[in-house]
Order: sequence, then structure tokens, then C-alpha cells
Amino acid sequence: MKWQGRRKSGNLEDRRGMSGKGKLAAGGGLIAVVVVLLQLFGGDTGQTLAPILEQVTQSQSVSEGGEQRELTEKEKELGAFMNAVIVDTEDIWSEIFRENNLGAYKEPTVVLFTDAVRSGCGTASAASGPFYCPADQKVYMDLSFFDQLRTRFGAKGGDFAIAYVTAHEIGHHIQTILGTSQKVRQLQQQTNQAGANKLSVAQELQADFYAGVWAHHNRDYLEEGDIDEALSAANAVGDDAIQRRTQGSVQPDSFTHGTSEQRKYWFMKGYKTGDIKQGDTFSEIMN
Ligand SMILES: [Zn+2]
Repeated sequence: MKWQGRRKSGNLEDRRGMSGKGKLAAGGGLIAVVVVLLQLFGGDTGQTLAPILEQVTQSQSVSEGGEQRELTEKEKELGAFMNAVIVDTEDIWSEIFRENNLGAYKEPTVVLFTDAVRSGCGTASAASGPFYCPADQKVYMDLSFFDQLRTRFGAKGGDFAIAYVTAHEIGHHIQTILGTSQKVRQLQQQTNQAGANKLSVAQELQADFYAGVWAHHNRDYLEEGDIDEALSAANAVGDDAIQRRTQGSVQPDSFTHGTSEQRKYWFMKGYKTGDIKQGDTFSEIMN
């Protein structure tokens, strides 16, 4: 993605390189595995995860605002890239909201962190992957996740994988400010586990769709290979791909994010149409 020369966003909170006393160390290993399975990029399941995370953090504190080490050149560059992605989402979603008479777009904050972070949804370790917290309307990104995406999940990597995941999390913000997330939570309370999982899949696929819609409107800045990087990331984090890798078999009833095929399909549908009205994943998934 061409990302040089953007204005500076007022919504980027860079907490990288801050020291913390306890880094969710002892006893965190097992819990961290659970969190990865539940939340791998991204639920806006921050709220339901909070009780699990509380267990981890009760006896350990994460201090923010301690000493800050100097960021490396690579980290600084990644920060500048993230700034460009955030600015582009701000400009594009403001425009889409205007065009669709959805009122003023309320920009989310994006927090960059290393190791662990305190959010409005509880304390999270980097193992939870990128997530959106509806309670404070912030996206939390630990950028080391993208090294794992490449080395452990076999994705291509590349800058646009990061852009896609960020846009997916911002998709959850869109769902929150449009009231979709609240409706999903209500419906989930009235159904069984399999029904709740299906609703979660529809919500996640719609976030992928919104990421595609953003990419469509950002296409002047795209470079060759960018869409492939996004699709490769989407492919790597499909529920079927994750289950095959972690448990050797696939149980569709337990899917919460959708298959690799579904994730690629909805991202591409958003990318091709650029039209938020085409993103009714719910009627497709629930029927
Ligand atoms: Zn998500």
C-alpha cells in the first residue's frame, strides 16, 4: 500500500515499548491458548472474554505509563504505516457515512501495544491477537501478531495483511456504532450455543466485508499484491484452517469466525462492490 505523506491521525495511541511490572507471566500459558482459540483476530468478543482475562490478571498487575524505551526504526516505520491506515479509514468511513445518510462517523481510537494492555474490556495479553473493545470503542493491536500470522499460520504477510486486520477490527467498530453488535448480543442470549456461534460467524464475516469495502474506496493507494496479502491472511485465520491446525479435525458447529472460503468471499464482495448495503451476511448465514 502506498502510505507516505498522510496527515497525522489524532486517534493513534502508541503504547509500544512501555515497561510493565507483571507481564501476564506465571500461569498465563494455558489461558493464553484458550484466548487464542476464542479470539484469534478478532472478535469484538472483548466483553465475553473479559472474565477469562480477569482470571489471568487478578494476581498480576500490568502497569502502563512506566518507563518507555526508544522504539526501533522498524517499529517507528510500522507506526507511521498504521497512522496511514487509520487516516485512510477515517476519511473513507466518514465519506461512506455521509453518502448513506448515517450521520457523522465517530472515529475509533487505535492502540498499539506490546506484550499486554489494559482495555475497557479487561487486560489482554498479546496472545489474544488484535481485538476491538466496544466498551471503550478502541481497537487494540499488538503488531507482533503479524509475525506469527506468517510464521505459525502460513500467511504471506506484507503490509496489507496488517491493513486488512486493522480494517476488520474497525469493521467491528462500525457494527457497534450502527447497533448491529448490540442486536447480535441480544439474539445470542435467546438461542443455544450453535445458534450463538452462527450469529458470531455472520458478525465476523460482515467485519471482513467492511474491510473489503474500505479497500475498495482506498484502491488508489493499493499496490500489486495487496489484495493477495489480505486474502492470504483471511485464508490463514478461517475457523476450519485453525481447527485443522490446532486439533486435527473440523467442527463446523463451533465456528465463530467463518471458514477460510467464507472470509475470502466476503472480503472480496466488499472489495468489488464498495457498497455497505451489500453486506447482509446475517440472512445468508442464518438461513
Ligand atoms: Zn472480528
